[in-house]
Formats: sequence, C-alpha cells, structure tokens
Amino acid sequence: MSPNRRRPLVGGNWKMHFLREDATNFCGAFLAGGALPADVVLFPSFPLLPTVAEALEGTDVGCGGQDLHPEDKGAHTGDVSGPQLVDAGCSWVLCGHSERRHDHGESDELVRQKAVAALRYGLTPLICVGETQAERQAERTFEVLERQLRAALSEGPATFTLAYEPVWAIGTGETATPEIAQEAHRFLRDRLTEMLGEAAAQAKRILYGGSVNPQNADELISKPDLDGFLVGGASLDPEKFLAIIRSCGSDS
Ligand code: PEP
Repeated sequence: MSPNRRRPLVGGNWKMHFLREDATNFCGAFLAGGALPADVVLFPSFPLLPTVAEALEGTDVGCGGQDLHPEDKGAHTGDVSGPQLVDAGCSWVLCGHSERRHDHGESDELVRQKAVAALRYGLTPLICVGETQAERQAERTFEVLERQLRAALSEGPATFTLAYEPVWAIGTGETATPEIAQEAHRFLRDRLTEMLGEAAAQAKRILYGGSVNPQNADELISKPDLDGFLVGGASLDPEKFLAIIRSCGSDS
C-alpha cells in the first residue's frame, strides 16, 4: 500500500441474513484471519447486534446498525434509535442504503436527518449514494450523486464516511468497472472539495459497493479514489470477506 494512501475501510452489510449461531460462527472464523490491512466494520441486522458486538469485543473490528430513526425515542413501531444502537454495541450506522431509499421510500432529507441523529450519539454515519440503471442510461448519474451528496451534507453531519453504491450493481453480480467506479469517486471527491475544502476532502474515505468479490476487488482498489468497500453478499462468507479485505493491502 502506498504510504500516502488513506487507510482502507471495509464494511460487511449482512442485510436480513443469518441467525445468532451463524453470526457467532462467522465471527469465530473471521477473527481467526489475523491482522488485516484495513479497518473493518460489520453491519448485522438488529437482533444480531448484541451477539456480534460481544464476539467482537476487544478486537479492532467495529459493529454498526443498518439504519436508525432520526428521533431518540418515541412511538415508531419497527424503528431503532441511535441510543439503542449504542447500547447494543454499535459505533457505526448505515444511512441511506439504496434498499432503504427504494424499499422504504427514504428521501434525501430523511437520510440527512438520520446522519445528524447518528452523530448525536457518537455513531459514525456511513452515507450511501448511487444512481439507478435508468438514471445512468439517461446520463443523470452525476446529477443524482450531487443531489444526494449535497442534501445529506447541507446542515448535515460533521463526521461521516461515504459509500458510492450504484443501485444497478447491488446484489446483481454486475460490478461497476474500475474506470466507472473511479470516475464516480473522483466526482464525489471533487464535490467534497467544494463543500469541505481540499484537506478534508482528501482525508475522506469513499467506499465502493456493488457486487464486490475476491475476483474483482484487486482491480477496483487499485483506483486512486477508492478507499475500500461496502460488501453485501460476499460478506456472509468469512473467507471471501477476508480475501476482499486483504486485497486492500496490495498495490496492484
Ligand atoms: C450492499 O448491500 O451494500 C452491497 C453492495 O451488496 P452486494 O455486495 O451484494 O452487491
């Protein structure tokens, strides 16, 4: 890894997979993998959080929620608050994952409110942005990315990490080429430079997500504005997830 490079970060988004026993087995196998060239955070579903947080205790691997409600408590059936995530052992939370935006109609403004709520409790929001297939075909990719980014950050969180997740690549097996991913990451970093200044934008980690696997990770991470991955399907297999993380240590 080049000495000037931002330390990579890899997130594992387990979505609605695994029971407690699977989670425990995963953590055992994963932690046996030894030292890794990236920061790592797992995003299990809510009922698995205490199991995973306990298994990760005393390690460098972080634990995060897949969503949170902008309010701290109240009559919101089915939702989870920032204090509840912290109480369950989380230090991270996903905000604006495309499956939340599309399955649950989450707006850009709601994503901003969630990211701000996360920070109130010391949770780092991992804000996800990305265009649909139709938006890419209509050549609206940059317009969509800029809208989502500016909305999330206007009067938004001071601390955050960003993930570029083209919707057409999530769970489809169709990965963005390294060139397409780099172009989007570069665009996002340029916008961050306008919003936050050069030094802050250069320090920000921008993760790529969308059908990342051990075969395509090396080439993707070789691009200068990719600082790690948000991994869905392949994060359910400790060996595949470890292989993806290890790819972040090579300068291929
Ligand atoms: C994700 O859920 O954020 C994701 C990128 O999923 P997958 O790796 O399965 O495409």
